[in-house]
Amino acid sequence: MTYLKVYDEIRKLLSDQQYAKINGYGPSYFSFNQEGGRCPECQGEGVVTIPMQFMSDVTMVCEQCGGKRFKQDILEVRYREKNIDDILNMSIEDAIAFFEEGKEDAAKSIARKLQPLVDVGLGYLKLGQSSSTLSGGESQRIKLAYFLSLSSENRKKEKILFIFDEPTTGLHFFDVEKLLKAFDALLDAGHSLVVVEHNPDVIRSADWLIDLGPDAGSRGGEVVFAGTPEDMIARGDSFTAQYLRR
Ligand SMILES: [Zn+2]
Repeated sequence: MTYLKVYDEIRKLLSDQQYAKINGYGPSYFSFNQEGGRCPECQGEGVVTIPMQFMSDVTMVCEQCGGKRFKQDILEVRYREKNIDDILNMSIEDAIAFFEEGKEDAAKSIARKLQPLVDVGLGYLKLGQSSSTLSGGESQRIKLAYFLSLSSENRKKEKILFIFDEPTTGLHFFDVEKLLKAFDALLDAGHSLVVVEHNPDVIRSADWLIDLGPDAGSRGGEVVFAGTPEDMIARGDSFTAQYLRR
């Protein structure tokens, strides 16, 4: 979310609500990276770590904020009945629906900026999900979403070679389709893609395949086929070719 600068807009929207204005809670009060609004006990972490002398450290939910990361009074600030904690716990898909229904331009802008995340199959992530908990595939897709969020002039300014290492990890079939559409958007803008993948739908969609084998690990590493997916299906004899034919 920080990648897409959406959090800045959400903080601004909350600080524009009447209760925040009366109390002088500016946008920074809704950040857990700064003093002011965050819980002073856990410094916005939501958890406290207790060092244990002879054992590994114990992490516990912060007693003061109950894991909500903000001071109680900050949680009284609501935009359409949702406070910052409620919003950060929404999935990206739900958040888009929520902000789209808002009448303010600022709310609609937030919904629009979140859309690229759904386009790369990340709609299930929570808005406030920490980037340290993301899988490798998810991190790659977030960077792709950031790129897709740039204006079309900026997206086409220079031609880029993108390299993805198993970007579909953890994706469901339906979301793989979305990711392939996002890849098409990159290609349409004139960029190039190198994708390391096992996923058959991704393999089938490539313009050119380089199949490494014949087996995995130390029994692989040789180029066993290079060509189009159609060629591979017609005349390939590698494991990948057999798999695609099925
Ligand atoms: Zn706390």
